[in-house]
Amino acid sequence: MNQTTIIDAMRELAGVANVLESDADMAPHLIDWRKRHSGRAACVVFPRDTAQVSKVLAWCDARGVKVFPQGGNTSVCGGSVPDASGNSILLNLAKMNRIVEINADNNSMTVEAGCILADLQQAALDADRIFPLTLGAEGSCQIGGNIATNAGGTNVLRFGNTRDLVLGLEVVLADGRIWNGIRTLRKNNSGYDLKNLFVGAEGTLGVVTQAALKLYPRPRATATAMLGVATVNDAVQEGLKLQAAFPGELVGLELISRSEFEISLRHAAKARNPFGETPAWMVLVELAASSGNDEAIAARLTDALAPSFEAGVIVDAIVAASAQQRADLWHIRHHVTEANGREGMGLTHDIAVPTYRIPDFMAAAEQTLAAHYPQATQVVVGHMGDGNLHYIAMFSHEYWASVADKVGTQLALSHRLYDIAASMGGTFSAEHGIGALHVPEMSLYKDANEIALMRQMKQLLDPNDTMNPGRVVPASSASAAA
Ligand SMILES: Cc1cc2nc3c(=O)[nH]c(=O)nc-3n(C[C@H](O)[C@H](O)[C@H](O)COP(=O)(O)OP(=O)(O)OC[C@H]3O[C@@H](n4cnc5c(N)ncnc54)[C@H](O)[C@@H]3O)c2cc1C
Repeated sequence: MNQTTIIDAMRELAGVANVLESDADMAPHLIDWRKRHSGRAACVVFPRDTAQVSKVLAWCDARGVKVFPQGGNTSVCGGSVPDASGNSILLNLAKMNRIVEINADNNSMTVEAGCILADLQQAALDADRIFPLTLGAEGSCQIGGNIATNAGGTNVLRFGNTRDLVLGLEVVLADGRIWNGIRTLRKNNSGYDLKNLFVGAEGTLGVVTQAALKLYPRPRATATAMLGVATVNDAVQEGLKLQAAFPGELVGLELISRSEFEISLRHAAKARNPFGETPAWMVLVELAASSGNDEAIAARLTDALAPSFEAGVIVDAIVAASAQQRADLWHIRHHVTEANGREGMGLTHDIAVPTYRIPDFMAAAEQTLAAHYPQATQVVVGHMGDGNLHYIAMFSHEYWASVADKVGTQLALSHRLYDIAASMGGTFSAEHGIGALHVPEMSLYKDANEIALMRQMKQLLDPNDTMNPGRVVPASSASAAA
């Protein structure tokens, strides 16, 4: 199908003002946030409502035109940009950004998929509730993208992944059919739980157009602290103690290596080092309580930390004494991705292992890096409370430019690390998803029957492979050969 025919049809279906077709206008949508993946499209379409999404998909599906859904384009695994064909459409949900309903009594809100995550957090606060999904990209990622990737973030320990926050979904299927599964119930055992099929499907089974989400009561007291320790094992042990001491109140438990901390301080505007001497490892802790005040919960946290402090396990600690200090500590954490991009070529591995195996993973990974990649600096940041580490091999731009086989080097390094994680019951993709980048690992690390089931589901819901082709599900050897 030629591009002019596609553009004309999209203008007709979505309105002229909602279609971008010039290279300059489309450019920001065709390259990802980290500028590592790019693609081409006939046009970028911004539907205004579910009916338009339905018409666009039905038209494309009937004519073999591929559809790449896009949210805030913050994917870090090449999931948010189209492939190189140029005869596809990019479907961006940004103009579907209405909050349909907030029901504080029911602790729920119903929203369109294009809402920016930070706007939803604020809308919940305005209703004296919280929407607890929190991540560094919250100022630009969309809830549809969060749902499609089953995003994690810094509050998973207490509130779960995005999947745990979704009560219902509206989805447009590849052929244009609309499935209205918007419910705000906590219990509903009436058949298969279809919504969970679309959460984490990364747009390969349909387009999420609306979601009903869980809200929680707004905490009345918060305490934030950054602890300094000498080893990863100390960090994990302190984390486990805090989990036992503050059930239901421990919201965040993040691990940061000195190398990562210093990178963030170097590149994040207004970041300040709260420590005199930066410890080897830091643990960022956040507690939230439904009663009391900040001073009281901070005092309880300080008391709980005292024995480890006296024993010399915690070598330094900053307990935030004000909202500004709390924000300053989180500022360093939330800017790591951006700072890493400025520092050099960081090869990031989004692995997870059971939390108690983190020290084992780190010991083996450190050895591997030192033995095979002596030019790289080990940089680690992660959601320690749920076993998810972002293990980054940081190369200088100069060194990376001199590497002849970049793809081969990256794959060899990644597979060494993924093998270590797998040997400990872990995963190669904890929260970022598969996108285009990790499709080869699916065949290597997932069970063959699991892949076969995924292919069958894809075939059932998207028989023409219209939605996000080449993402998530590896092609079968038969279709790859064709
Ligand atoms: C600074 C930074 C920090 C980050 N921190 C975290 C973190 O802590 N935890 C974490 O999990 N991730 C994190 N990420 C990754 C990223 O932000 C998340 O994956 C996010 O959920 C993607 O949302 P998005 O709207 O940008 O989606 P996009 O990047 O645009 O798309 C991601 C995928 O979702 C699909 N998609 C988007 N919208 C829809 C829709 N409406 N229907 C169907 N499919 C759709 C796309 O096709 C694509 O496959 C971070 C990224 C950055 C840049």
